[in-house]
Amino acid sequence: MKYVGRFAPSPTGPLHLGSLVSALASWLDARAHQGSWLVRIEDIDSTRCQPQWSELILKQLQACELYSDGPIVYQSKREHLYLRYLEELMPTKLLYPCRCSRLQIEQAQTRTRQTLIYPGTCRRHEPVQRSDYRGFNQNASSTDLSFPTPIARSGFFEFFCDTSIRIEVPNQTIHWFDRRLGEQQQNPSLDVGDFVLKSRDNHFSYQWAVVVDDIDQGVSDIVRGEDLADNTPRQLLLYDLLKRAKPQYFHVPLVTTTIGEKLSKQTNAPALDPSCASEDLNKAALHLGLTPMSAPLTERLQSWVQQWSDQCMGLSHRATKMG
Ligand code: GLU
Repeated sequence: MKYVGRFAPSPTGPLHLGSLVSALASWLDARAHQGSWLVRIEDIDSTRCQPQWSELILKQLQACELYSDGPIVYQSKREHLYLRYLEELMPTKLLYPCRCSRLQIEQAQTRTRQTLIYPGTCRRHEPVQRSDYRGFNQNASSTDLSFPTPIARSGFFEFFCDTSIRIEVPNQTIHWFDRRLGEQQQNPSLDVGDFVLKSRDNHFSYQWAVVVDDIDQGVSDIVRGEDLADNTPRQLLLYDLLKRAKPQYFHVPLVTTTIGEKLSKQTNAPALDPSCASEDLNKAALHLGLTPMSAPLTERLQSWVQQWSDQCMGLSHRATKMG
């Protein structure tokens, strides 16, 4: 399988050092495998994302000489694709409509836990199917490029307005191998429960959009922050149900604040200043166990590709933790 990697920031704010570490690691891994590297803006949730942040993120990446090998893709422009794949999943009869509020879910939870586990209240509803929202257009085949049509799309959002679509998660343990963390396992039905693919406010969820996009863009390798590792089993489940080849995963160590909290907007991580790209790249490289340098960026990146290759060779044999 040809190596295709990606960096997929959500424009809920500018990039900080933690996000640069993910961007650099995914770029280096793609280059070390003679693969391509794509940038995808994950702006599916218009209530949290802003175009100004997308623009700044692209400037920040440019200042670091991390350029996408293909056109920049914006999730906000790909709803038709998320619905097309959702229709592919409908015959499994695992998708069901749910109108439970957060409060109802909280009240139904028997134990106090950090994450809210959906109790399956709406599983008894009829599974979601195409004929719910479009009696017309029955003859359109799935090879038709305009499928589902804009009319079917608006029918879908109207029909499921104020209704989320959840997927029934089978009670099974999912095993996976992370190139840095080694063997991993989770039973998502116990740890997260039936999860949302389309929210009540008519957004496709992160879990769904990220899997559809990675499939659609032919992504073979996902290199991203360790905080996202526990999403992997849910995403692998979706690959299985869609009968698509699964990518390989490499979760990079998080950058933390002096008191050990993950660097993020919530912990007031400073935005990267494009005019300080050289210093910031060195900090990101150091975090990944590479040698900071003062050479021109192109030269530096080249040398880190070699160092990264050497490190990865060791990791793929030992599957031990890095840093
Ligand atoms: N958009 C996600 C974020 O910025 C990353 C998604 C992913 O890499 O899977 O946290």
